[in-house]
Amino acid sequence: MPELAEVEYFRKRWNPGIGSTVTRVLTHPAARIYRDIPAPAVRKGLSGRIFLGSSTHGKQMLFEFSDGAWLGLHLGMTGKLIFESGNYEPVKSDHLVLETTTGKLVFSDYRMFGKLTLDVTDDGEAPDWWQQLPPRTLDRGFTKKAHRTFVRRFPKTPLKTLLLDQRGYPGIGNWMADEICWRLQIPPSIRSGELSGEQIDAVWKMTRQVSRDALRVIGDDWNTPPHSWLFNHRWKDGGFCPRRGCGEELVRADLRGRTTCWCPRCQISPAN
Ligand SMILES: [Zn+2]
Repeated sequence: MPELAEVEYFRKRWNPGIGSTVTRVLTHPAARIYRDIPAPAVRKGLSGRIFLGSSTHGKQMLFEFSDGAWLGLHLGMTGKLIFESGNYEPVKSDHLVLETTTGKLVFSDYRMFGKLTLDVTDDGEAPDWWQQLPPRTLDRGFTKKAHRTFVRRFPKTPLKTLLLDQRGYPGIGNWMADEICWRLQIPPSIRSGELSGEQIDAVWKMTRQVSRDALRVIGDDWNTPPHSWLFNHRWKDGGFCPRRGCGEELVRADLRGRTTCWCPRCQISPAN
């Protein structure tokens, strides 16, 4: 599932269309992505508008159009955004195609877990739901203090599970949560209530670090992260810990419904 950096990568795919006018909107009316807003309303709402810009917030994307129209997109599991110039013929999984004066902005999602919203605001400001999202992990509002308060609300929740909570860590998904625990050498299953104040602050700092690293490596060009990250070793059984001097076989197991990967040698709880 796309996490913060993959979402940022896809957001930028539509950038070549900034400044152009939407001349025609093609939709698949039956597609599940139109469960919140019917396809005809999307066609009517975006036709003739100018695409002005976009931003991401965790796993959410918001595209601004002229006259206060805002298209919200969530990629779900398999969604992606593509820009096509020339004679592109939409395929079955292209649920939304915005034909513009410079090319086609395509939202493609073959499993249809993605989601789409359209708001029109009078004051030119982003819609309320967007403004009410919690601070991003790299925003000034994601403070050490607010983070500590958030963690202490869930003392029984395993750290890894907590890191997936979008109310506290927008955009953090499975691989980033594993990466954060691994770099901190903290077991993913440790209950949040067992973390010392110092460890909680270390989680805050590492969340920001991994967010920055992910955006730098994946957010622009989707490069492969370096060998020294857990990232390259966590996807299938038989991976080995890339930490210098370790090399232990990694463990992959279910933790509260999500496959979790960790190093049984580096990630030992201090209490054990
Ligand atoms: Zn290790």
